[in-house]
Amino acid sequence: MKLSISYWRLKDRYYRLVGVRCEECKNEFFPPVYVCRRCGSRSLTDKEMPKTGKILTYTELKETLAGFEDQEPMLLGIIQLDNGVRILGQIVDTAAENLSIGDRVKAVFRKIQEHGSSGQIFYGYKFVRT
Ligand SMILES: [Zn+2]
Repeated sequence: MKLSISYWRLKDRYYRLVGVRCEECKNEFFPPVYVCRRCGSRSLTDKEMPKTGKILTYTELKETLAGFEDQEPMLLGIIQLDNGVRILGQIVDTAAENLSIGDRVKAVFRKIQEHGSSGQIFYGYKFVRT
């Protein structure tokens, strides 16, 4: 089925942090774009993002959305990957008082949410300090 194939492809891209690279100006983007935001080129190819970067800024959420209560307080950061791309990500395995701007982090594959009634578990990337 066409639909499920593209669904799995999208999930795969998300898991592996696959963005795109502009063949004209060499800038990289995540999530992927169809038109380069810098030069307008449509000549874009898949590019896996680096899994390491640094914390530009972060915030601690004392309350989150329904379904994420077990992860409170949640740390969310803007991470600048080593290719310059900035992404929003959850920072885990540490407490807010141990974090500093500029800390090195790496992307890891973790459980995002467990769907209570179906038992389905969703995975994705999160960040840990290195
Ligand atoms: Zn470009």
